[in-house]
Amino acid sequence: MAKLDIVTYPNRLLSNKSEPLLNIDADTHKLIQDMADTMYSFSGVGLAAIQVGIPKNIIIYDRLAQDNKKNFQALINPEIVECHGVQISEKEGCLSLPELLADIKRFKTISVKGLNSEGKPVTIDAEGLLAVILQHEIEHLNGILLTDKISALKRNIYKRKALKNLKKE
Ligand SMILES: [Zn+2]
Repeated sequence: MAKLDIVTYPNRLLSNKSEPLLNIDADTHKLIQDMADTMYSFSGVGLAAIQVGIPKNIIIYDRLAQDNKKNFQALINPEIVECHGVQISEKEGCLSLPELLADIKRFKTISVKGLNSEGKPVTIDAEGLLAVILQHEIEHLNGILLTDKISALKRNIYKRKALKNLKKE
């Protein structure tokens, strides 16, 4: 088991757009496993490769992680191809944004196309929490964070706090 370091705000890397992954090989499988170990160690339900410093279009997720059953999925080069409805994701958090919780407007149902870890094309139809997780992780691949979706006031307060914590380290 290998736990990786999580890149946290305000590291600029998090605002970069990730690139498509062209070759799925043994290194990809190791990265995905390490990402899963990292996600579970922080009790997360999703993680994008950019959050461990790798700017490639890879996400993993496990909607039931909180139930202590480890059964994660990986999606490579994911793309939202359909979206419907609206839901408010209450107190949404992010491993890269410690201590930030925000109510975020999300699509209620989405269809996501991508490749699984074997490189096979898959389509995931998601609703509720799973739809929220997938939207959150895919936004990471586009360099979008929860801090881009909250009010300027809330963002400034959070940024000041994050910079203060950075100085303490
Ligand atoms: Zn996140």
